[in-house]
Amino acid sequence: MSDCYRLASTALGSRVTVHAHVHATAEAMLAAAAAFTGETLSERAQGVTQAWWDEEERATQILVQLNEEHLTHDVISHEMAHAAHALYGATLPDDALARDHLTHFNETLAHLHTDLYTGLLHKLHRRRR
Ligand SMILES: [Zn+2]
Repeated sequence: MSDCYRLASTALGSRVTVHAHVHATAEAMLAAAAAFTGETLSERAQGVTQAWWDEEERATQILVQLNEEHLTHDVISHEMAHAAHALYGATLPDDALARDHLTHFNETLAHLHTDLYTGLLHKLHRRRR
């Protein structure tokens, strides 16, 4: 059982959606993620971003799996970065070199986004004390 949230954006010109499921435990999240792909994921995963694909392997909708044990700014930012990269990458022409990199599999780009976002967030929180 999980709480389900539907997020939407029109930033890409047409409406795209992200489904965010928040599970009670990491174990439940990993089980749901494994059921989606049929593959077992790393037990270290604190969040998981998965996609529905069209016949041209373009992400059409995103499923973000989170859990109450790791519901932090870092994890949320990281998974939303994966979602945004996949949805944006799906709008690029087939011959665009960036298309291979703008997917929900690009860990480096998601970590870069998260480090910068949470780095500034933490500095702003400290400034207000
Ligand atoms: Zn990741």
